[in-house]
Amino acid sequence: MNDLPITIQTLGIVWLINFSLLTVRYLVFAGTAYSIFWIWKRDKLQYKRTQIEYPDKSKLLHEFKYSMITMTIFAAVGVGIFTAKKNGFTFLYNDISERGIVYFLFSIIVAILIHDTFFYWSHRLMHHKFIFKYVHKVHHNSTNPSPWAAFSFHPSESFIEALIVPILVFTMPIHPLAILAFLLYMTFMNVLGHLGFELYPKGFTRHWFGKWHNTATHHNMHHKFFNCNYGLYFNFWDMLAGTNHPNYHEVFAEVTSRKSLS
Ligand SMILES: [Zn+2]
Ligand SMILES: [Zn+2]
Repeated sequence: MNDLPITIQTLGIVWLINFSLLTVRYLVFAGTAYSIFWIWKRDKLQYKRTQIEYPDKSKLLHEFKYSMITMTIFAAVGVGIFTAKKNGFTFLYNDISERGIVYFLFSIIVAILIHDTFFYWSHRLMHHKFIFKYVHKVHHNSTNPSPWAAFSFHPSESFIEALIVPILVFTMPIHPLAILAFLLYMTFMNVLGHLGFELYPKGFTRHWFGKWHNTATHHNMHHKFFNCNYGLYFNFWDMLAGTNHPNYHEVFAEVTSRKSLS
């Protein structure tokens, strides 16, 4: 791809490749989670549901439709990054040995921390009453989300969510494989947050280490109650800003103390 001249055809091909890969990523992660938890093990794992009831099929179709629209926008942002890289405007580097494996791993962790901060504050901004209905309402159509909601955004929110990648490549040296690892981790955690089943053990949110990490219950409660639990990976910002739902720990304790029926 590096030798291709930038023409409309090239950009079209890059968009199509991006769109295909992003769609496969979405279908694999959300589809696997949905197949296992919402179909195959649904009855057996019912006791792990944060909200016992299930949403209407129409909600799932809404989530799927908007997630697919999101892939078209993410793919376009990818075209912008491709063009910027071709013109030498990014800090992307091609050879891992240039900075070593330690830096490579470090850059993935930094990317996750930067994203966690970007997500928390942009998310809070999107909940502002003047912005919410134009940008973030589509995502909150799901008050009891399924894994298909992972990318269910209005196009304006899709664009905001996609900004994390330009933020990274324009501010820090990062290898494309580090971006890939970061994006796969992001997708995994995003799908987990919308799973609707709590997989972490009892006591996790009170544990000295576990309490710093978010849970499926945390984000499920965000969808149910709206103005709380804004964080993505970690609980740092919600704790610092005092935005955890007042009953978060109680709800988590209730969900994780239920006994299996089988
Ligand atoms: Zn969500
Ligand atoms: Zn929200």
